[in-house]
Amino acid sequence: MTATPPVAARPIRILGVRVDDVTMQEACDHLAMLMAQGGVHQVATVNTEFVMAAQRDPVFASVLEATTLNVPDGVGVLWAARRLGHPLRERVAGVELVRELAARGSQYKWRAFFLGARPGIAERAAANLALRYPGLIVAGTYAGSPQPDEEEAIRARVRHAQPNLLFVAYGAPAQDKWLARNLPQLQWGPAPDGAPEGLIGVGVGGVFDFLTGLQKRAPGWMQQAGLEWFYRLLRQPWRWRRQLSLVRFVWAVMLKSG
Ligand code: UDP
Repeated sequence: MTATPPVAARPIRILGVRVDDVTMQEACDHLAMLMAQGGVHQVATVNTEFVMAAQRDPVFASVLEATTLNVPDGVGVLWAARRLGHPLRERVAGVELVRELAARGSQYKWRAFFLGARPGIAERAAANLALRYPGLIVAGTYAGSPQPDEEEAIRARVRHAQPNLLFVAYGAPAQDKWLARNLPQLQWGPAPDGAPEGLIGVGVGGVFDFLTGLQKRAPGWMQQAGLEWFYRLLRQPWRWRRQLSLVRFVWAVMLKSG
């Protein structure tokens, strides 16, 4: 592996939440470098719902403070950054990040564990990625739940599978808190035959649902126009209450930026 310079992840703050100004390429280069060095690292895919949840949930706020990388996932975050005078260079969408990490994994023979979503979905998401990125090793899949009484059993499964990538799909903030509580206890190693020893945990929200086609992503033009939230509202109208947080977010950013 070629030496990778440290990531130019200039952190900015959006309503107090750290978001790292990284491109997809920089994020993946940095994570590949950390993977080669070993240790455990947590990544969050920050969108407007994360920012608003962190305002009222100090535990979630401190989890987002302690992560290795908070990638800007969503046009709302990019808009706010521009408005607050610290523009971010690129959106790093969770589903694309998972695909890119799978592509790196196929190059470096990383082992990936898929945790969460409805029963059967993690298996299908993993199979879909493994087909597309041969070389990526599916170390394990399991739906489980983020309930504390399941944690010990899930940790045992994950430890046994010895993954390098742990994608957790329990929705935010549950998945990110789950990772913060459990990731430090999941370190394993040393790996046989010089295989990578690092462990990178990523909270991925609905990514497995998108990878399996259970949920459809908005058409390209809607993503470009920043209307992905509207598409989601049309397809999942029961989310309207959650999407109110978007209105509160816009309001809070406007107040802050004057
Ligand atoms: N999920 C889960 N267990 C839970 C809550 C959620 O497995 O207790 C899964 C759900 O099936 C979905 C994913 O978490 O695959 C993300 O859900 P959502 O779409 O709400 O998250 P977002 O993408 O908005 O963060």
